Amino acid sequence: MTASTDDYPRLDVIAVGAHPDDVEIACGGTLARLVHQGYHVGIIDLTDGEPTPKSPGPEVRLAEAQAAAAALGVHQRITLDLPNRRLFDSFEARVALAKEFRKYRPKIVIGFGDKTPLASPDHWQAMLITYAAVFYSRLTKWDEHFDGLPVHAVSAQLYFRLAFEPQTLVGYPSHFTADISETLETKIDSIRCYATQFPPEKEYVFDRIRGAAMLAGAASGFQAGEVFVSARPLGTRDLVKTALPI
Ligand SMILES: [Zn+2]
Repeated sequence: MTASTDDYPRLDVIAVGAHPDDVEIACGGTLARLVHQGYHVGIIDLTDGEPTPKSPGPEVRLAEAQAAAAALGVHQRITLDLPNRRLFDSFEARVALAKEFRKYRPKIVIGFGDKTPLASPDHWQAMLITYAAVFYSRLTKWDEHFDGLPVHAVSAQLYFRLAFEPQTLVGYPSHFTADISETLETKIDSIRCYATQFPPEKEYVFDRIRGAAMLAGAASGFQAGEVFVSARPLGTRDLVKTALPI
């Protein structure tokens, strides 16, 4: 029997993080801009990020994540109950994420594209899980694993950069920069919602995030930007608009 997706609004873009705040740091400015442009945008956190050193508990982290989603204006934020700190690419994790793709039917999925040296190894596992879930989402003759949800083919997959990854993600050549000049402050505001993660003594993090966005933007002629990598070479039907976005 096929389950209905009527209860789930269709999303244009879903960004996947391992922990609440990953997506905001990596591409919050772009998501806020997509919302302004009228696209339907969602965030999926694979874990609730708990335990973590300075948080009183999961309810607080969840409230921070919802506040951050509201700051960005995204339409959905889903927190899966996979385990923080011991997140591993597994059949169950792949299926859990693929079910969300089947429900919300995104055209584009954005997620991790590489290891993040000196940061959480959950990020690399999130990359593996996301990569597999995009594929599992479209597989037929496997409905019993997906609560009968209909298959959904994701059209494009992009990788974001959290800041720590190497400049060239797993050898993919199609880097591009999204203009976030008008939404950089919204991005910063959304990250500030994570008060347990960024107390006053970590104020320097915001300078680094702002600096990284301005540097990335400057390279492409924007005031601020976020860098992405396309899993396949990007095409264009309007060479002028692509070459001269401003
Ligand atoms: Zn993280």
